Amino acid sequence: MAGFNRRSFLAAAPFIFTATALARAAAPAAKTQTPGTYRFRLGDYQLTALYDGIWRLPIEDNFIRNAGKADVNAALAAGFLPPDVLPVSFTALLVNTGRKLVLIDTGTAGQITDSAGTLTANLATAGIKPAQIDTILISHFHPDHINGLKTKDGGKVFANAEIMVPQVEWDFWMDESRIETAEGVVKKYFLNARRIFRDLAREVHRFQPGREIAPGISAIAAPGHTPGHVAFTVSSGNQTMLVIGDAARNPELFVRHPAWQPSFDMDGPLAVATRQSLLQKAAADKLLVHGYHFPFPATGHIAARAEGYELVPVLWQPL
Ligand SMILES: [Zn+2]
Repeated sequence: MAGFNRRSFLAAAPFIFTATALARAAAPAAKTQTPGTYRFRLGDYQLTALYDGIWRLPIEDNFIRNAGKADVNAALAAGFLPPDVLPVSFTALLVNTGRKLVLIDTGTAGQITDSAGTLTANLATAGIKPAQIDTILISHFHPDHINGLKTKDGGKVFANAEIMVPQVEWDFWMDESRIETAEGVVKKYFLNARRIFRDLAREVHRFQPGREIAPGISAIAAPGHTPGHVAFTVSSGNQTMLVIGDAARNPELFVRHPAWQPSFDMDGPLAVATRQSLLQKAAADKLLVHGYHFPFPATGHIAARAEGYELVPVLWQPL
């Protein structure tokens, strides 16, 4: 055939092959993140960290009450964080006891920022439907921990779950007289707590810390961030995990500098005492720790340093 012979085909083939391979390799960049779930074992329990997203919080000059801007900027730089915007990550924890599915805190349900609200999608990735959750434990009533209970329209997300909240949080945030006098962002928190819980009052179970509230899970009083904030221990076999909620938020700041008092801790000195005590216990007992605002999977160990502590993240590994 004119214009085509074996020699010219072979000469052209490498070019054709290379061009095809390049066309295949040049996949368009993805527009979304991959799923955020991380499973690990604790005794006989299976735990799953569920990523909800991130909130980019503008840093105000006085955001740490008892540290100067230069010191705060140095800590941010040491953590490779920008000086003006603090990334606040959200990760809830699912505990499968073998008989019960217990969810600790619920994410934002996309009601705080567009860059968060992936908890239910990640729950689906983990193979769990919201209706399968038996028990929900709430650490405190800030929106990023309770908003996942309801859709924007007020529908229940977890149809069959028993909801358990700290009694002190309920008494504080549902107090009508306090709502009247609250101001600024705290007023918003009061109104939001009422939006989430008002029609659930009958079914919400209120607990006192200091005892087991679900199989292998105990609540510990951890006040300061809010008046009734609690931490949890999850124990199975001979292993225990400490779930510290918001007792220490960004580790680069508050694990490294536990005495710092951020503006989002309602009682600064009390929050510092709680933070010191939980970090000290975690380090001394070599406990696995989950921190709701730690970088995903929000799980690691706490190592004591000459000053403060350091988060040592878990190693991602097969089950
Ligand atoms: Zn929080």
